[in-house]
Amino acid sequence: MEVRGAVLREVGKPLEIETLTLAPPGPGELLVRVRAAGLCHSDLSVIDGSRPRPVPMVLGHEAAGEVVEAGPGSDFQPGEHVVLTFVPSCGDCAPCTAGRPALCGPAAAANREGTLLGGDVRWSSPVGRPLHHLGVSAFASQVVVSDRSAVRIDKALPFEIAALFGCAVLTGAGAVFNAAHVRPGTAWPCSASAESVCPRCLPRRPPVRARCSRSIRCPASGSWRGRWVPRC
Ligand SMILES: [Zn+2]
Ligand SMILES: [Zn+2]
Repeated sequence: MEVRGAVLREVGKPLEIETLTLAPPGPGELLVRVRAAGLCHSDLSVIDGSRPRPVPMVLGHEAAGEVVEAGPGSDFQPGEHVVLTFVPSCGDCAPCTAGRPALCGPAAAANREGTLLGGDVRWSSPVGRPLHHLGVSAFASQVVVSDRSAVRIDKALPFEIAALFGCAVLTGAGAVFNAAHVRPGTAWPCSASAESVCPRCLPRRPPVRARCSRSIRCPASGSWRGRWVPRC
């Protein structure tokens, strides 16, 4: 089938909006209609070359959408709403079985090569076969992804909010809860990074503006610095 996608053909050059051919989903894969996608700094880093990736590549790696078709062996159903995230989890490798799916070995290899988790590339075009960006390639009207890159969500959740859970909330909240061990309700300085989410903001729906008048000690560095920043 033919779809529209934003392709990075050459590092440092603007994305090209192109008509691409998308192969049907293989075993364990999904065809998803993208309804919302976020522009992450990691996409910009691929464009400017500070995060090297093979090209051509259909960029984008946080999205929400609707399942159109499920490949053989997938238990997803057409019509289900999903968030697409940049780290699939094979479920079988050592990190996955140890409860650390973010470190999945096959996923890291696939993301490095620009393939889906199963090793295949479903894009094609008359001027070279574009690769998948982190198993998602969100900047396209429809995408094929491994169902290990998809998480079911409630249909009541707006797509533009859900898309942020594919990377921004995942990385921001992951850092807050798992690295810094901050708990909801505690005060904490947070950076102005576009991907950071402070604990004060978490109970709300982003984008949220939060501000605190007090400087507070950073439990990580011990230094007195930072205020609640106007943008989290
Ligand atoms: Zn990202
Ligand atoms: Zn794994």
